Amino acid sequence: MSDKKTATIAVRSGIETDQQFRAVVPPIYLTSTYGFPELGTLPQYDYSRSGNPTRNLLAETLAKLEGGAGGVVTSCGTAAINLLATAQLGPDDLVVAPHDCYGGTYRLFNTRAGKGDFKVLFVDQGNSQALAEALAKKPTLVWVETPSNPLLRVIDVEQLCRQAHDAGALVAVDNTFLSPALQQPIALGADFVVHSTTKYINGHSDVVGGVLIAKDSEHAETLSWWANCIGATGAPFDAYLTLRGVRTLMARMRVHEENAARLLAYLQTQPLVGKIYHPSLADHPGHAIAVRQQKGFGSMLSFELAGSRQQLEVFVASLNDFSLAESLGGTESLIAHPASMTHRAMSDEAQLAAGILPSLLRLSVGLEDADDLIADLAQAFAKAAEASE
Ligand SMILES: *Cc1c(COP(=O)(O)O)cnc(C)c1O
Repeated sequence: MSDKKTATIAVRSGIETDQQFRAVVPPIYLTSTYGFPELGTLPQYDYSRSGNPTRNLLAETLAKLEGGAGGVVTSCGTAAINLLATAQLGPDDLVVAPHDCYGGTYRLFNTRAGKGDFKVLFVDQGNSQALAEALAKKPTLVWVETPSNPLLRVIDVEQLCRQAHDAGALVAVDNTFLSPALQQPIALGADFVVHSTTKYINGHSDVVGGVLIAKDSEHAETLSWWANCIGATGAPFDAYLTLRGVRTLMARMRVHEENAARLLAYLQTQPLVGKIYHPSLADHPGHAIAVRQQKGFGSMLSFELAGSRQQLEVFVASLNDFSLAESLGGTESLIAHPASMTHRAMSDEAQLAAGILPSLLRLSVGLEDADDLIADLAQAFAKAAEASE
């Protein structure tokens, strides 16, 4: 099965494996516990925190899609990140993370480091000198997010893995923004891949979930042990829904990308649009790296509204086909204002240092008809243009 292409793995994983009724779609096992065949004989599954057929099938499927040896499905993406930190880091270990990483990741690393669980250093990984200085401190783990949120900065994963491995560090990549459909970090040298499956992998904004995948089986076994020990595993029903999302992942990503490309072309013609951030743009920093390491550019994009605060408010309020909401990767289009929403936990100074301006808007481009999305943007821009400067 693993020699199949990703779309085939996504669609067929676990199909027609039911022994009891030859159900084509694998059934959901909601049970918390399993019978022992006899005293002293351990069954394959004994308790659903440790193992569950529905959740294990999702873990296996995602590990195959990422080219890893195994994985653990967790209750959310944050639990997957915490699982890796708990399993791999002790008080003397250093984790090097991007200065513009996901806010929840920043809070988790920062808070646990403050308790003395491990050490953390946040650096601009695109600054080669800052990165070299951080690696000289001999970290245990280097955390990578590419493309980053919300400015879509791209990191050369292959090069960073080489440097990190030379320094004796393991590398974990948060692949949430692209999914295995568009980027496979393990093939680029990463040791671990993390997803908030809440986003593109489930893809329907109706499950909160996560996964942590290891390149080698030894790490995968250690992570499973820790997941059971600390109780990080996800619910079977969530795993069932997420696997349902995975079936269409490759097909959805194609339309997400088509729509994003249409919107980008339109946005570039708009006077109220300032700087646009998307890896497909030739002048985007990291465009050449993205072309090399990604199989596509994804459907997350940000842009600065070139107008007053009031015009920005009118623009956002006038949209009908974009919901003003956090999160991303669902079938429906979303718009977010990073400064007051996703990144509000960062101080004004930290936001500015990370390049997040108050005029920045972030779109998660969904699967609606692109003509309708463009028409909706057009009427909102027209209303914003009428609003006073
Ligand atoms: C949402 C998100 C997370 C956190 O995942 P949850 O499922 O919300 O816990 C981590 N990293 C990235 C890039 C995300 O977008």
